[in-house]
Amino acid sequence: MKIFYSSLQKKHVIRKEVYNGKAHSYNDKVSRIDSILKAFKQAGRYEIIVPEILPFEALTSVHDEDYLTFLESSQNLKNDEVICPYVFPCDYRIPRHEPFIPKRAGYYCFDAGTSLMNNTWNAAVASASAAYGAAIYTKTTGEPSYALCRPPGHHASKNMFGGYCYLNNAAVIAKYLLQSGSVMIVDFDYHHGNGTQSIFYDSSEVFYLSIHAHPLVEYPYFTGFETEIGIDDGVNYNLNVPLMPLSSPSEYFKALLKGLEKAFKVINPDYLILSAGFDIEAGDPIGHFNISPNDFFRLGKEFRSLNKKTIILQEGGYLVSELGRNVESFLAGFSEN
Ligand SMILES: [Zn+2]
Repeated sequence: MKIFYSSLQKKHVIRKEVYNGKAHSYNDKVSRIDSILKAFKQAGRYEIIVPEILPFEALTSVHDEDYLTFLESSQNLKNDEVICPYVFPCDYRIPRHEPFIPKRAGYYCFDAGTSLMNNTWNAAVASASAAYGAAIYTKTTGEPSYALCRPPGHHASKNMFGGYCYLNNAAVIAKYLLQSGSVMIVDFDYHHGNGTQSIFYDSSEVFYLSIHAHPLVEYPYFTGFETEIGIDDGVNYNLNVPLMPLSSPSEYFKALLKGLEKAFKVINPDYLILSAGFDIEAGDPIGHFNISPNDFFRLGKEFRSLNKKTIILQEGGYLVSELGRNVESFLAGFSEN
Protein backbone atom coordinates (compact mmCIF):
# COMPACT_ATOMS: atom_id res chain seq x y z
CA MET A 1 0.00 0.00 0.00
CA LYS A 2 1.15 3.54 -0.74
CA ILE A 3 1.91 5.69 2.31
CA PHE A 4 1.89 9.49 2.12
CA TYR A 5 4.08 11.32 4.60
CA SER A 6 6.53 14.22 4.83
CA SER A 7 9.22 14.73 7.46
CA LEU A 8 8.04 18.38 7.76
CA GLN A 9 5.31 16.95 9.99
CA LYS A 10 7.96 16.29 12.64
CA LYS A 11 8.78 19.98 13.00
CA HIS A 12 5.78 20.64 15.24
CA VAL A 13 7.15 19.87 18.70
CA ILE A 14 5.08 20.65 21.80
CA ARG A 15 6.26 19.17 25.05
CA LYS A 16 3.52 20.02 27.57
CA GLU A 17 -0.24 20.42 27.71
CA VAL A 18 -2.52 21.68 30.46
CA TYR A 19 -5.02 19.24 31.92
CA ASN A 20 -7.02 20.03 35.04
CA GLY A 21 -4.72 22.92 35.78
CA LYS A 22 -1.59 20.79 35.69
CA ALA A 23 1.13 20.42 33.09
CA HIS A 24 1.27 16.99 31.47
CA SER A 25 3.41 15.54 28.73
CA TYR A 26 1.89 16.44 25.31
CA ASN A 27 0.21 13.38 23.84
CA ASP A 28 0.76 14.18 20.19
CA LYS A 29 4.45 13.30 20.34
CA VAL A 30 6.80 13.22 17.36
CA SER A 31 7.67 9.64 18.38
CA ARG A 32 4.20 8.58 17.21
CA ILE A 33 5.46 9.05 13.67
CA ASP A 34 8.61 7.02 14.38
CA SER A 35 6.56 4.17 15.84
CA ILE A 36 4.43 3.94 12.69
CA LEU A 37 7.33 4.27 10.24
CA LYS A 38 9.28 1.59 12.11
CA ALA A 39 6.37 -0.86 11.84
CA PHE A 40 6.07 -0.16 8.10
CA LYS A 41 9.77 -0.74 7.61
CA GLN A 42 9.65 -4.03 9.48
CA ALA A 43 6.65 -5.23 7.47
CA GLY A 44 8.50 -4.39 4.24
CA ARG A 45 5.41 -4.01 2.06
CA TYR A 46 4.82 -0.27 2.09
CA GLU A 47 6.09 2.44 -0.21
CA ILE A 48 6.44 5.90 1.27
CA ILE A 49 5.69 8.84 -1.00
CA VAL A 50 6.54 12.43 -0.05
CA PRO A 51 3.56 14.54 -1.16
CA GLU A 52 3.70 17.92 -2.84
CA ILE A 53 2.36 20.84 -0.81
CA LEU A 54 -1.35 21.11 -1.50
CA PRO A 55 -2.85 24.17 -3.25
CA PHE A 56 -3.98 26.90 -0.85
CA GLU A 57 -7.48 26.73 -2.37
CA ALA A 58 -7.79 23.21 -0.97
CA LEU A 59 -7.52 24.73 2.51
CA THR A 60 -9.90 27.62 1.80
CA SER A 61 -12.49 25.12 0.54
CA VAL A 62 -12.93 24.22 4.23
CA HIS A 63 -11.33 26.86 6.44
CA ASP A 64 -11.99 30.60 6.78
CA GLU A 65 -9.22 32.71 5.29
CA ASP A 66 -8.81 34.81 8.45
CA TYR A 67 -8.32 31.63 10.46
CA LEU A 68 -5.65 30.41 8.03
CA THR A 69 -3.92 33.80 8.17
CA PHE A 70 -3.92 33.57 11.95
CA LEU A 71 -2.45 30.04 11.97
CA GLU A 72 0.16 31.07 9.43
CA SER A 73 1.20 33.97 11.66
CA SER A 74 2.36 31.48 14.28
CA GLN A 75 5.49 31.23 12.12
CA ASN A 76 6.51 34.57 13.63
CA LEU A 77 6.91 33.07 17.09
CA LYS A 78 10.44 32.81 18.41
CA ASN A 79 12.25 29.49 18.43
CA ASP A 80 11.02 27.38 21.35
CA GLU A 81 8.22 29.88 22.11
CA VAL A 82 4.99 27.96 22.73
CA ILE A 83 1.55 29.57 22.97
CA CYS A 84 -1.16 27.74 24.86
CA PRO A 85 -4.42 29.75 24.75
CA TYR A 86 -6.15 30.16 28.07
CA VAL A 87 -8.73 32.93 27.56
CA PHE A 88 -11.70 32.30 25.24
CA PRO A 89 -14.20 34.93 23.98
CA CYS A 90 -17.46 33.14 24.80
CA ASP A 91 -19.77 36.19 25.01
CA TYR A 92 -21.01 36.76 21.46
CA ARG A 93 -23.01 39.90 22.42
CA ILE A 94 -19.92 42.07 22.59
CA PRO A 95 -17.88 43.06 19.55
CA ARG A 96 -14.84 40.93 19.02
CA HIS A 97 -11.38 42.41 18.75
CA GLU A 98 -8.74 41.29 16.33
CA PRO A 99 -7.09 38.07 17.44
CA PHE A 100 -3.36 38.04 17.90
CA ILE A 101 -0.72 35.77 19.21
CA PRO A 102 -0.18 35.30 22.08
CA LYS A 103 -2.77 37.15 24.19
CA ARG A 104 -5.89 36.68 22.08
CA ALA A 105 -4.93 33.31 20.55
CA GLY A 106 -8.04 31.85 22.25
CA TYR A 107 -10.12 33.60 19.57
CA TYR A 108 -9.63 30.62 17.25
CA CYS A 109 -9.23 27.87 19.84
CA PHE A 110 -11.68 25.75 21.84
CA ASP A 111 -9.50 24.05 24.44
CA ALA A 112 -6.49 24.80 26.62
CA GLY A 113 -4.68 21.61 25.68
CA THR A 114 -3.49 22.52 22.18
CA SER A 115 -0.58 24.86 21.55
CA LEU A 116 1.09 26.76 18.76
CA MET A 117 4.80 27.14 17.97
CA ASN A 118 6.69 28.51 15.00
CA ASN A 119 6.57 25.28 13.00
CA THR A 120 2.94 24.40 13.69
CA TRP A 121 1.73 25.90 10.43
CA ASN A 122 4.28 24.13 8.22
CA ALA A 123 3.67 20.80 9.95
CA ALA A 124 -0.12 21.14 9.71
CA VAL A 125 0.08 22.06 6.02
CA ALA A 126 2.41 19.09 5.42
CA SER A 127 -0.06 16.83 7.21
CA ALA A 128 -2.96 18.08 5.08
CA SER A 129 -0.73 17.66 2.01
CA ALA A 130 -0.18 14.00 2.92
CA ALA A 131 -3.95 13.52 2.98
CA TYR A 132 -4.32 15.42 -0.29
CA GLY A 133 -1.60 13.36 -1.99
CA ALA A 134 -3.30 10.17 -0.84
CA ALA A 135 -6.64 11.41 -2.17
CA ILE A 136 -5.18 12.24 -5.60
CA TYR A 137 -3.57 8.80 -5.73
CA THR A 138 -6.77 6.94 -4.85
CA LYS A 139 -8.88 9.05 -7.16
CA THR A 140 -6.47 8.39 -10.03
CA THR A 141 -5.80 4.69 -9.51
CA GLY A 142 -8.79 3.46 -7.53
CA GLU A 143 -6.31 1.85 -5.13
CA PRO A 144 -6.50 2.46 -1.37
CA SER A 145 -3.99 4.75 0.32
CA TYR A 146 -2.91 5.76 3.80
CA ALA A 147 -1.75 9.21 4.92
CA LEU A 148 0.34 9.42 8.06
CA CYS A 149 -1.30 12.67 9.15
CA ARG A 150 0.30 14.25 12.17
CA PRO A 151 -0.84 16.68 13.49
CA PRO A 152 -4.25 15.01 13.17
CA GLY A 153 -7.33 16.85 11.90
CA HIS A 154 -10.80 15.75 12.95
CA HIS A 155 -11.22 18.21 15.86
CA ALA A 156 -10.42 21.26 13.70
CA SER A 157 -13.47 23.18 12.48
CA LYS A 158 -13.55 25.81 9.75
CA ASN A 159 -12.23 28.44 12.19
CA MET A 160 -11.10 26.69 15.39
CA PHE A 161 -8.16 24.55 16.44
CA GLY A 162 -8.10 22.17 19.39
CA GLY A 163 -7.63 18.52 20.31
CA TYR A 164 -4.10 18.62 18.76
CA CYS A 165 -5.75 19.48 15.39
CA TYR A 166 -5.29 22.63 13.26
CA LEU A 167 -6.43 21.76 9.71
CA ASN A 168 -9.21 19.27 9.03
CA ASN A 169 -7.47 16.80 6.73
CA ALA A 170 -10.56 14.63 6.17
CA ALA A 171 -12.75 17.62 5.26
CA VAL A 172 -10.11 19.03 2.89
CA ILE A 173 -9.93 15.83 0.86
CA ALA A 174 -13.68 15.28 1.07
CA LYS A 175 -14.15 18.63 -0.69
CA TYR A 176 -11.63 17.61 -3.32
CA LEU A 177 -13.16 14.16 -3.90
CA LEU A 178 -16.67 15.58 -4.19
CA GLN A 179 -15.65 16.88 -7.61
CA SER A 180 -15.69 13.29 -8.87
CA GLY A 181 -18.18 11.43 -6.69
CA SER A 182 -20.03 11.09 -3.41
CA VAL A 183 -18.19 10.83 -0.10
CA MET A 184 -18.68 9.20 3.26
CA ILE A 185 -16.35 9.82 6.20
CA VAL A 186 -16.20 7.14 8.87
CA ASP A 187 -14.40 8.34 11.98
CA PHE A 188 -13.36 5.66 14.46
CA ASP A 189 -11.09 7.76 16.65
CA TYR A 190 -11.84 7.32 20.37
CA HIS A 191 -13.00 10.94 20.50
CA HIS A 192 -15.86 12.49 18.60
CA GLY A 193 -14.72 14.45 15.54
CA ASN A 194 -16.48 17.68 16.48
CA GLY A 195 -14.65 19.61 13.76
CA THR A 196 -15.61 17.34 10.89
CA GLN A 197 -19.20 17.15 12.11
CA SER A 198 -19.47 20.94 12.28
CA ILE A 199 -18.08 21.45 8.76
CA PHE A 200 -20.70 19.24 7.09
CA TYR A 201 -23.51 19.55 9.64
CA ASP A 202 -25.89 21.55 7.43
CA SER A 203 -25.04 19.78 4.21
CA SER A 204 -25.89 16.52 2.44
CA GLU A 205 -22.60 16.77 0.50
CA VAL A 206 -20.84 14.35 2.79
CA PHE A 207 -22.17 11.64 5.11
CA TYR A 208 -20.38 11.68 8.47
CA LEU A 209 -20.46 8.59 10.68
CA SER A 210 -18.57 8.65 13.95
CA ILE A 211 -18.19 5.88 16.52
CA HIS A 212 -16.56 7.17 19.69
CA ALA A 213 -16.51 7.37 23.47
CA HIS A 214 -19.67 8.86 24.92
CA PRO A 215 -19.44 12.65 25.36
CA LEU A 216 -21.14 12.30 28.74
CA VAL A 217 -17.80 11.08 30.04
CA GLU A 218 -15.14 11.84 27.43
CA TYR A 219 -13.64 14.70 25.42
CA PRO A 220 -14.90 16.79 23.63
CA TYR A 221 -17.94 16.58 26.00
CA PHE A 222 -20.20 19.01 24.08
CA THR A 223 -20.71 17.03 20.87
CA GLY A 224 -21.06 13.42 19.77
CA PHE A 225 -24.54 12.66 21.08
CA GLU A 226 -26.92 10.43 19.10
CA THR A 227 -29.41 13.27 18.83
CA GLU A 228 -27.05 15.25 16.58
CA ILE A 229 -28.35 14.19 13.16
CA GLY A 230 -27.58 17.33 11.12
CA ILE A 231 -29.63 20.42 10.27
CA ASP A 232 -31.21 21.86 7.10
CA ASP A 233 -29.98 19.88 4.06
CA GLY A 234 -27.75 17.87 6.39
CA VAL A 235 -30.56 16.16 8.30
CA ASN A 236 -29.84 12.40 8.45
CA TYR A 237 -26.35 12.88 7.01
CA ASN A 238 -24.72 12.91 10.43
CA LEU A 239 -24.70 9.72 12.49
CA ASN A 240 -23.12 9.49 15.93
CA VAL A 241 -22.58 6.15 17.65
CA PRO A 242 -21.40 6.93 21.19
CA LEU A 243 -20.21 4.05 23.39
CA MET A 244 -19.31 4.00 27.04
CA PRO A 245 -15.62 3.37 27.80
CA LEU A 246 -14.50 -0.26 28.29
CA SER A 247 -17.03 -1.55 25.78
CA SER A 248 -15.76 -4.99 24.78
CA PRO A 249 -14.46 -5.48 21.23
CA SER A 250 -17.56 -7.55 20.38
CA GLU A 251 -19.87 -4.70 21.44
CA TYR A 252 -17.68 -2.33 19.48
CA PHE A 253 -17.95 -4.30 16.24
CA LYS A 254 -21.67 -4.81 16.69
CA ALA A 255 -22.23 -1.07 17.07
CA LEU A 256 -19.95 -0.24 14.15
CA LEU A 257 -21.61 -2.67 11.75
CA LYS A 258 -25.05 -1.44 12.76
CA GLY A 259 -23.92 2.15 12.17
CA LEU A 260 -22.53 1.28 8.73
CA GLU A 261 -25.72 -0.52 7.78
CA LYS A 262 -27.73 2.54 8.75
CA ALA A 263 -25.40 4.86 6.83
CA PHE A 264 -25.54 2.78 3.66
CA LYS A 265 -29.31 3.09 3.65
CA VAL A 266 -28.81 6.83 3.12
CA ILE A 267 -25.77 6.88 0.84
CA ASN A 268 -23.81 4.47 -1.32
CA PRO A 269 -20.63 6.54 -1.62
CA ASP A 270 -18.00 6.46 -4.35
CA TYR A 271 -15.32 7.36 -1.83
CA LEU A 272 -14.75 6.31 1.74
CA ILE A 273 -12.50 8.43 3.96
CA LEU A 274 -11.49 6.80 7.21
CA SER A 275 -10.56 9.06 10.10
CA ALA A 276 -8.51 6.32 11.69
CA GLY A 277 -7.93 6.98 15.36
CA PHE A 278 -5.88 4.33 17.12
CA ASP A 279 -6.57 5.72 20.59
CA ILE A 280 -9.19 2.95 20.75
CA GLU A 281 -6.18 0.64 21.30
CA ALA A 282 -5.82 -1.29 24.56
CA GLY A 283 -3.68 0.69 26.99
CA ASP A 284 -3.95 4.06 25.23
CA PRO A 285 -3.28 6.82 27.78
CA ILE A 286 -6.44 8.74 26.83
CA GLY A 287 -8.64 6.02 25.28
CA HIS A 288 -10.45 3.08 26.89
CA PHE A 289 -11.93 0.77 24.25
CA ASN A 290 -9.38 -2.06 24.57
CA ILE A 291 -9.00 -2.87 20.89
CA SER A 292 -6.16 -5.37 20.33
CA PRO A 293 -3.86 -5.79 17.30
CA ASN A 294 -6.03 -8.72 16.12
CA ASP A 295 -9.12 -6.56 16.44
CA PHE A 296 -7.42 -3.90 14.30
CA PHE A 297 -6.75 -6.54 11.66
CA ARG A 298 -10.47 -7.41 11.66
CA LEU A 299 -11.39 -3.72 11.59
CA GLY A 300 -9.28 -3.28 8.46
CA LYS A 301 -10.99 -6.27 6.83
CA GLU A 302 -14.45 -4.95 7.68
CA PHE A 303 -13.72 -1.65 5.97
CA ARG A 304 -12.17 -3.36 2.96
CA SER A 305 -15.29 -5.48 2.55
CA LEU A 306 -17.27 -2.29 1.88
CA ASN A 307 -15.49 -2.30 -1.47
CA LYS A 308 -15.11 1.47 -1.85
CA LYS A 309 -12.27 3.67 -3.05
CA THR A 310 -10.73 4.32 0.36
CA ILE A 311 -8.33 6.86 1.82
CA ILE A 312 -7.17 6.13 5.35
CA LEU A 313 -6.07 9.13 7.43
CA GLN A 314 -4.19 8.88 10.69
CA GLU A 315 -5.95 10.64 13.55
CA GLY A 316 -5.23 9.82 17.24
CA GLY A 317 -3.37 6.96 18.91
CA TYR A 318 -1.07 7.83 21.76
CA LEU A 319 0.34 4.57 23.12
CA VAL A 320 3.55 5.10 21.23
CA SER A 321 5.03 1.65 21.96
CA GLU A 322 2.05 -0.13 20.30
CA LEU A 323 0.84 2.46 17.81
CA GLY A 324 2.95 1.32 14.85
CA ARG A 325 2.03 -2.33 15.32
CA ASN A 326 -1.66 -1.47 15.51
CA VAL A 327 -1.63 0.75 12.42
CA GLU A 328 0.25 -1.91 10.46
CA SER A 329 -2.16 -4.58 11.67
CA PHE A 330 -5.11 -2.47 10.47
CA LEU A 331 -3.54 -1.89 7.05
CA ALA A 332 -2.63 -5.60 6.75
CA GLY A 333 -6.27 -6.48 7.46
CA PHE A 334 -7.40 -3.90 4.94
CA SER A 335 -5.03 -5.27 2.29
CA GLU A 336 -6.10 -8.90 2.70
CA ASN A 337 -8.43 -10.13 -0.02
ZN1 LIG B 1 -8.74 10.82 19.77
